[in-house]
Amino acid sequence: MSFLQLRALNKHYGSVKALDGIDLNVVAGSRTAIVGPSGCGKTTLLRLIAGFEAPDEGSITLDGTVLANGGSSVPAHKRGIGLVAQDGALFPHLTVAANIGFGMDRGEADRTERIAELAYIVGLDKAILKRHPHELSGGQQQRVAIARAMARKPRLMLLDEPFSALDTGLRASMRKAVAELLESAGVATILVTHDQSEALSFADQVAVMRDGKFSQVGAPRELYLRPRDRMIAEFLGDAVVLPARVDSGFAQCPLGRIAVDSTERRDTARIMLRPEQLTLKCTSREGMSGTPDMLFGEVVETEFAGSLCTVAVRLLNNADPPDAAAIGNTPLILKKPGMDAPTTGEVVRISVVGKAH
Ligand code: ATP
Repeated sequence: MSFLQLRALNKHYGSVKALDGIDLNVVAGSRTAIVGPSGCGKTTLLRLIAGFEAPDEGSITLDGTVLANGGSSVPAHKRGIGLVAQDGALFPHLTVAANIGFGMDRGEADRTERIAELAYIVGLDKAILKRHPHELSGGQQQRVAIARAMARKPRLMLLDEPFSALDTGLRASMRKAVAELLESAGVATILVTHDQSEALSFADQVAVMRDGKFSQVGAPRELYLRPRDRMIAEFLGDAVVLPARVDSGFAQCPLGRIAVDSTERRDTARIMLRPEQLTLKCTSREGMSGTPDMLFGEVVETEFAGSLCTVAVRLLNNADPPDAAAIGNTPLILKKPGMDAPTTGEVVRISVVGKAH
């Protein structure tokens, strides 16, 4: 049995259906990420699990105890669930140390030590412990909020965009530190984020949310490589989507005959490849002659963006597209490491790595 079970959760605000039949299982000690566009219901779901709101219908069960069922609900302070809200929600009149220590047991002997340890884990300098929240940056406030939630030794931790005020480098190191801390404490965690790469790297299980429903729930690799539809594919990363005729594990598409991870037969399908599955090797127009089985393209645009470049490639020899008009002269858009990216006007040989979906 799962540690946390959500069953058929519904929540309305007036005529807005914020949650529409949410089912989810969370395994003890695991990490789940919920991603989805703004307004799809992510924060509402966390507030229901934390007990700040009651569902209209459906149930929430934690470790065998029913916390909410329809309108009836166990109060938030009796749930043993930590919630780090988007804005941190620190107590403005308390110092950082008092904020972190707020929920600790009164008699905790090593209280000062534990506060210092938690501050260290979330990367807060000792000098900051004496300050008040208004004397901290947004990122420091978020870190205090995480330390405060951890200090209460929750059974379940809910994190609502807790790293959003941090810069890229600090964000990755904080994410790793918090994941390790929660894992060593055996605390199951649900993270809400807009950032798909954060969800994929943080979680064992990712749930993609849209219009108050989960569109797909699964392991990060499964969702990334086998998204159920185009919206999920494009939400989780860059995708090359092509028309194809699919049969017996192969697709005939503008890139030629390539393997797909499906054995079903469809005359008008769409296949998806991640840009990193397409490799580009520089050649010349002369290099194209006498190689009818190989696929070539011309780089029509390159945009430099630091470590990755966006490269637009127009196909030069279409290998029997089933629906050539559907791709026409639309270039393939790929992301390639800046160091290896071909430049505008270059002719490249294109190869596909792995299977399309
Ligand atoms: P974001 O990523 O922008 O924080 P979200 O996915 O967390 O968005 P929610 O905050 O859960 O989305 O909101 C879901 C829907 O419910 C939205 O349409 C929102 O306007 C609405 N909503 C949320 N809280 C309330 C409320 N207290 N009263 C009325 N409508 C609300």
